[in-house]
Amino acid sequence: MAVEKGSLSITSENIFPIIKKWLYSDQDIFLRELVSNGCDAITKLKKLAGIGEWQAPEREQYRVDVITDADTKTLTVIDNGIGMTADEVKEYINQIAFSGAQSFLEKYKDKASEDQIIGHFGLGFYSAFMVADRVTIDTLSYQEGAEAVHWASDAGVDYEMEPGTRTERGTKITLYLNEDCYQYSNEYRVKEVLEKYCSFMPVEIYYKNANAKPEEPAESTTVDEENPENAEKAEEKKPAEKPINTTHPLFTKHPNECTDEEYKEFYRDTFHDYKEPLFWIHLNMDYPFNLKGILYFPKINMEYDAIEGTIKLYNNQVFIADNIKEVIPEFLLLLKGVIDCPDLPLNVSRSALQNDGFVKKISDYITKKVAEKLSGLCKTERENYEKYWDDISPFIKYGCLRDDKFEERMHDYIIFKDLNEKYITLPDYLGPDAEETEEKTEEKPEENADAAGEAVDNRKKIYYVTDPVQQSQYINLFKENGLNAVILTEKIDQPFINSLEAKNDKIKFVRIDAEVDDAVATELSEEEQKAMTEKLEKLFRTVLDKENLTVKVTNLKNADVSSMLTISEESRRMQDMMRMYNMSGADMSSMFPNAETLVLNAQNTLVKYLLNDDNTDEVRKDLFVKQLYDLARIANAPLSPEDMTKFVARSNEMMKLLAE
Ligand code: ADP
Ligand code: MG
Repeated sequence: MAVEKGSLSITSENIFPIIKKWLYSDQDIFLRELVSNGCDAITKLKKLAGIGEWQAPEREQYRVDVITDADTKTLTVIDNGIGMTADEVKEYINQIAFSGAQSFLEKYKDKASEDQIIGHFGLGFYSAFMVADRVTIDTLSYQEGAEAVHWASDAGVDYEMEPGTRTERGTKITLYLNEDCYQYSNEYRVKEVLEKYCSFMPVEIYYKNANAKPEEPAESTTVDEENPENAEKAEEKKPAEKPINTTHPLFTKHPNECTDEEYKEFYRDTFHDYKEPLFWIHLNMDYPFNLKGILYFPKINMEYDAIEGTIKLYNNQVFIADNIKEVIPEFLLLLKGVIDCPDLPLNVSRSALQNDGFVKKISDYITKKVAEKLSGLCKTERENYEKYWDDISPFIKYGCLRDDKFEERMHDYIIFKDLNEKYITLPDYLGPDAEETEEKTEEKPEENADAAGEAVDNRKKIYYVTDPVQQSQYINLFKENGLNAVILTEKIDQPFINSLEAKNDKIKFVRIDAEVDDAVATELSEEEQKAMTEKLEKLFRTVLDKENLTVKVTNLKNADVSSMLTISEESRRMQDMMRMYNMSGADMSSMFPNAETLVLNAQNTLVKYLLNDDNTDEVRKDLFVKQLYDLARIANAPLSPEDMTKFVARSNEMMKLLAE
């Protein structure tokens, strides 16, 4: 072969500055491209051997070597794969790759700035020019009688081709690094890039620092003839050369072949997280598309960690990127895991991925599998599921909020802790008669309307507690009367129950302090109640100087409870929401005149005292009214500093009366 010179392409002069600029943010990928080309070359050769087209030498060790040399400022990638003939270099390097880069550029030139190209695929070999001024190829094809080829190009514009000197099968790519990119001749930098992109590539990859001093010989390397064991020991001491990657990562295996210990080890190695994951889901399918992966549910420390996961996306064991939300459902990004999808169209922009039906299918499939695993766990390993629940519930609830299909699948497997510290599902809570109630109400429509003609709410109430300490008075009352409630203390719970109510018209969540349930009171005749309520309302309104105060007198079964405050569910939710949006200053009392009700227990001695007309001591009555009101408030929410001061002063005053 004579020396051949040529210009790679007329437009290539324009291409490279743009490509360089484009990919600047993620220059590191050039190494992934070169190493994966080496792996591809080996995979091709193995295939040829597999079909008998080529006879592999005995005990052939296929490998890719990455060598840095800080003295010469070079980086070299060598493989012992298929190699290339001169014709192949012309076809695959001089023509194909270039036309590839060109059409790639045509397609995306307008989107370059705002639209990241997933994985920057399609540039392959030529990405080397992002970091190198000069690139050479030395290659020898596997074919019998093949001639070695030497190829060199400066800046990717002109090339030179001539017979080469390589004597071993395979390809060696040498990068003469650009001044700005000398970092890629640094051991730690290159190892870092290799670890990120090449950890799971399917061929063994070895790293070598050409500048490293040869290992100091160990003390006993000289063979002691009288003590031959020493020689063996010396052999042991020699560090075994280890590849930087795992060629058969766990996610490529069948779930039946993997042990729990292996899953945990893979998690530690991949995410450098030494807290054990709670459990994992191993995805493995070939049809209708190829997808493999492991999703881990990490143990969440709610107090210190913002929940933030990492899902690493691979294409045939080549790392693409973290957290590609077009492929991985957003709420799953809270998990940690790896997904390998060889069928993924990577040569496209992110916005194209978003509208890709196939990508959507992948995303839906992942969601479905996660829901199946979780519901399966709930059905067959309830005890474990409950044990994990506190850690996984924020994730599940967030998933339900973000994804209707996930919510549908998980609806019956969301568990709630109740007042007895037991976990119950919605179907448990609603019981088998949920549907019956509906039928009954249909039979007697006239009873479904209240005095004002409005439809009566037939939804089943689910009482809930948001703060077990602050709401203890209500909880005790519930427990004494055999009522139950669920505990929902997380921030996400409020939007979550809103969404559950919107999707399930049979249920309604009511906070435990929102109303006095009939079950905690005994009957009281209507006239009696009306008379007592009118009387006490008037008294309280006057003494407290609150003309809008609503009072309700009932017969609570527990006579020790004197007064309680209830705040209607709707107005409290509205208030919480406004507080969340920082809309203070809005006058709630005018928006919800009946939001707050002071409940007084007619069975209680103190309330009886106020009801008794014989008691005419105005000073005492005054103190009783104020104290009962404050006690009700304290058992509901903290008092303002001002009101607290008054409460303490009044309590002292009352005790003084006792001492007299
Ligand atoms: P792609 O890998 O997507 O085909 P590249 O630009 O990375 O695109 O490579 C272009 C072509 O050059 C490859 O398809 C292959 O035929 C050839 N090639 C590149 N690197 C090597 C190598 N190390 N050994 C053999 N052939 C190679
Ligand atoms: Mg390639």
